Amino acid sequence: MFLLSLTKRWWASITILLFFCTLDAHSWGFAAHRYINESAVYALPSPLREFFEYHRSTLKERAVAADQRRSWDPLEASCHFMDMDRWNDSERWTLPLHWDSAVQCYTEKHLRSRGILPWHAPQVYRRLVWAFEQGNHGLILRTAADLGHYLADAHVPLHLCSNYNGQNSGQHGLHALLESRIPEYLGDTMVQTLRRAEIVKHPARQIWQIMNDAYLHLESVFDCECLCRSEVPLDLHYAPFRRGNRLLRQESIPFVQCYHRCLGGLMGRQLAASVAHVADWWLSAWVEAGQPLLRSPWGPDARVLEDNNQEDNNQEDTDVGWKGAGDDDHSP
Ligand SMILES: [Zn+2]
Repeated sequence: MFLLSLTKRWWASITILLFFCTLDAHSWGFAAHRYINESAVYALPSPLREFFEYHRSTLKERAVAADQRRSWDPLEASCHFMDMDRWNDSERWTLPLHWDSAVQCYTEKHLRSRGILPWHAPQVYRRLVWAFEQGNHGLILRTAADLGHYLADAHVPLHLCSNYNGQNSGQHGLHALLESRIPEYLGDTMVQTLRRAEIVKHPARQIWQIMNDAYLHLESVFDCECLCRSEVPLDLHYAPFRRGNRLLRQESIPFVQCYHRCLGGLMGRQLAASVAHVADWWLSAWVEAGQPLLRSPWGPDARVLEDNNQEDNNQEDTDVGWKGAGDDDHSP
């Protein structure tokens, strides 16, 4: 009894001191994004692997650039998600496969309000093909890093529904639990096997496949959190951790263990699938561009190249050449 009241008092006092950790919604944790981009390098065949490996730190660093852009680019946020639950079944299966057709049918404003991830990722892929064709190393690295980010986001069930942080079901903070705490808990064992990259025949179709597969797990993402809330004793739900000068709280190891177990290792599999698909899309873009030689210049770091190419890139970014898209419609 004494112990119980002591625990309660400790918890009450600690909750006064602690701030709630509000991590970025609509995103894998930064560490997971960096891990995915860096790991994907090693699934590539030679000679693409050598080029990417040389610039590994740039790909890793820039893995979160897409999330950072959201703070100043109002169009960026909608590129990271799609609220599939806001489209009814018949709409979802007949949504146009390509952006121009989708805009014609629904208007850009309407599409962006529900997220445009399945259209944006293939556009970034086209841009990567174009960057390879141009032999622009800075643009290749920036675009490859962004592509890795968007593809990884497509594997996360919470990026595919409007209740993306559990805010509509009394499960606020679910996003960070799923995307940051589980990868942190898994640590270096996040991905245990690495398959060789494969050619993707139709990226615009595959992104839908990836998202549909992830969407199937949405129910268990919510249900397991509820189950662990009741299964793990209340005073073991959270633990303090320090970030800079602040003491914050996050889900405890026992709680994360319970959640991970209940999900049947889902997030480990999604991380592994993200790594594999990122490597697949990088390789496919390079092959589609005609497998250009990327040997030279090897010396300076990519950031120097980026600075040199910045002026050109600004123009390239607005060039419609890389956007090529057909008009066939999405079908299951
Ligand atoms: Zn994101």
